[in-house]
Amino acid sequence: MKRTLYLKLLIGYAIFGILGFLVITIFTSQVTLRCLEKDAISNLYRESNLLAGSYAYNYYQGTITLEDMESHFHSVGTYLDAEIWVITKDGTILINTDEETVPDKVIQNFDISTFGTKYYQTGTFFNTFSEKTLTVFSPVTINYKIQSYLLIHKPASDLVFLKDKLLNIAYITLAIIFLFGFLVLGLFTYTIYMPIRKITKAATEYTEGNFDTKINIHSNDEIGYLAGSLNYMATQLSTLEEAQRKFIANVSHDFRSPLTSIKGYIEAIMDGTIPHEMQDKYLNIILFETERLNKLTESMLELNKYGAKGSMLDITSFDINYTIKMVIQSFEGTCKKKKISFELILTGQKSFVSADMSKIQQVLYNLIDNAIKFSHTDSSITIETTEKNDKVFISVKDTGIGIPKDSIKLIWDRFYKTDLSRGKDKRGTGLGLAIVKEIISAHNENINVISTEGVGTEFIFTLPMTRKEKEL
Ligand code: ATP
Ligand code: MG
Repeated sequence: MKRTLYLKLLIGYAIFGILGFLVITIFTSQVTLRCLEKDAISNLYRESNLLAGSYAYNYYQGTITLEDMESHFHSVGTYLDAEIWVITKDGTILINTDEETVPDKVIQNFDISTFGTKYYQTGTFFNTFSEKTLTVFSPVTINYKIQSYLLIHKPASDLVFLKDKLLNIAYITLAIIFLFGFLVLGLFTYTIYMPIRKITKAATEYTEGNFDTKINIHSNDEIGYLAGSLNYMATQLSTLEEAQRKFIANVSHDFRSPLTSIKGYIEAIMDGTIPHEMQDKYLNIILFETERLNKLTESMLELNKYGAKGSMLDITSFDINYTIKMVIQSFEGTCKKKKISFELILTGQKSFVSADMSKIQQVLYNLIDNAIKFSHTDSSITIETTEKNDKVFISVKDTGIGIPKDSIKLIWDRFYKTDLSRGKDKRGTGLGLAIVKEIISAHNENINVISTEGVGTEFIFTLPMTRKEKEL
């Protein structure tokens, strides 16, 4: 967007100023002049009617002299800033309050019919005035007979002067409005344009994959909200990116090491570095590594299913006590070797839960597998089920190496293995607990861990109890 928004605003502002100026110069000027003319005409006409009906009438009645009338008209003329004439029908001027402008005594070609139906006229009044003049007239009548006309002349330039004075006020007002507009523009620049520029700049950085840029806007309005949302989005994207990077690095590492050793041993077997009688041993190692790769691939596929939210649970009601017993059986061989015994503390005979049985078997398998792996020989693993508030709590507890405090939060992460466990279990992928967590979350249940380094570990998860089945 560069600067276009601001440029548009500035152009809009300039157009507003120019249009305002043009409107006052062309439109307002004309309208004001017309208004002033109308006003002046009606005022002068009222005055001329008054003078014609009183003084001029009295003069023709003989009650006042021409001099009296003239002196009175002089003062009225000065007051009105206009010339007052009394003129006969044939154009002879009886009274002229300002003889300096028009010294003539007779107006040639005077013909009142040129006024038409109007009682006023603008022009030079039969070429008597040098400039445009406004003239209104009132007939002086005695017994319905016109004796003469009373005229009032006012130079049109007086009105133009007045109009210009009024227009100056309009120009000043426009200038003030324009100035206020400028302030509003400044405010807009500060509160809207600058933040939007910041946001746009940050958005450009985001599109280039640079999610570290923070938008520093904290206003309590829509823009502040937008900036906050973008900041949040950037943080989420950066953690996602970081997690993805870490994930790929871990996957590559976990795949590379078994593949390198497989390749190395096969090459050694092929070129005869490993003698025939030793080959069995190394083929077993190759088998071990291949199994590990197989397990890794399966685990990743499993996790991917949960990540994509594509895993559908097949919820049934089953006896968790029985399931636990069945899973334990599959560990018999390993337990014998390590001299590990199981202690089962189960609620009653049966305890029915509503869950996906095969998935819960997998959870139990992973937890018990860990418990055995990280237990010392000649130890015991306790598995306990407890019913509480419509839930069954299942606990798998060992007295093994335990988990260091700092690692407790991390064990759910994909590929995470504590340093303690590395020596004990080379085969582990670090994906087991991540799968456990996904399965329990998919059931909308919880899993917790309590562990003390060197003392032991306990994993406890919940499952919903099936009431109906339980009562059977
Ligand atoms: P996999 O399960 O794929 O064989 P893993 O067992 O190493 O590999 P997880 O089951 O995810 O991976 O466990 C992650 C880590 O948590 C383990 O490597 C270990 O360090 C720690 N851990 C898990 N269970 C226990 C336990 N019962 N006692 C001590 N440490 C444990
Ligand atoms: Mg495990």
